[in-house]
Amino acid sequence: SVKVTGLNKRFGDTHVLKGVSVEVPDGAFAVLVGPSGCGKSTLLRLLAGLEEADEGHIFLGDRDVTRLEPRERDIAMVFQSYALYPHLTVRENLAFGLKLRKTPAAEIDKRLGEASEMLGLGPLLDRYPKALSGGQRQRVAMGRAIVRRAQLFLFDEPLSNLDAALRAQVRVDIRKLHDRLGATSVYVTHDQVEAMTLADVLFVLNKGVVEQAGPPLEIYAHPRTKFVAGFLGSPA
Ligand code: ATP
Ligand code: MG
Repeated sequence: SVKVTGLNKRFGDTHVLKGVSVEVPDGAFAVLVGPSGCGKSTLLRLLAGLEEADEGHIFLGDRDVTRLEPRERDIAMVFQSYALYPHLTVRENLAFGLKLRKTPAAEIDKRLGEASEMLGLGPLLDRYPKALSGGQRQRVAMGRAIVRRAQLFLFDEPLSNLDAALRAQVRVDIRKLHDRLGATSVYVTHDQVEAMTLADVLFVLNKGVVEQAGPPLEIYAHPRTKFVAGFLGSPA
């Protein structure tokens, strides 16, 4: 599980997260949704350990990871920009993090085999990122998260560089993958439809505050604030 309590983050005079608390049970697919600039990416970066909280705590399971480095947190992150190494093949991109962690070669092979089977990457393993389509790059980025065997997956608008048709397909793939891995996921988007279709549990963020949290259909049917109703397009 992921549990965040009373998280505050400021950048200079900008108070970006204002006492955010979020709880995601094991195995759940959580979506953080809200308008541009509301603090979604910042919250995800805090979970990943890429930024430090001013106040508050972050627990993964019963571990307090608030002051731990990213590599100590057992988290895998998939960004919209893929962030693949251009000078490495797909196979090398997949293996990179494992080699850094001194994973034995046989274990690397096994995990790469599993991930490429799940994502259909077999025919692409010896290609370089520049020879891949956007959707294929996104698959490699997910593959890198899978081979890590992380307990928590973080997605920051992973579909935003894809065209509409591909978006729908990769969206379904991400959810299938989550279910198959039995993972816990936190997924950031500003797209209401994406949020409603993917989420087991939805967190609506506005100006650094969680305005409402719960099952998506319940929030849609019973928005607690004007903002939530307007943002999700709830019937009046
Ligand atoms: P988007 O949907 O556009 O990606 P977001 O909800 O992810 O938006 P954040 O990236 O979390 O928003 O940014 C929230 C606020 O914090 C913005 O006002 C942004 O300018 C500010 N901010 C984020 N990172 C920094 C930083 N490193 N330094 C200063 N301000 C920052
Ligand atoms: Mg963002």
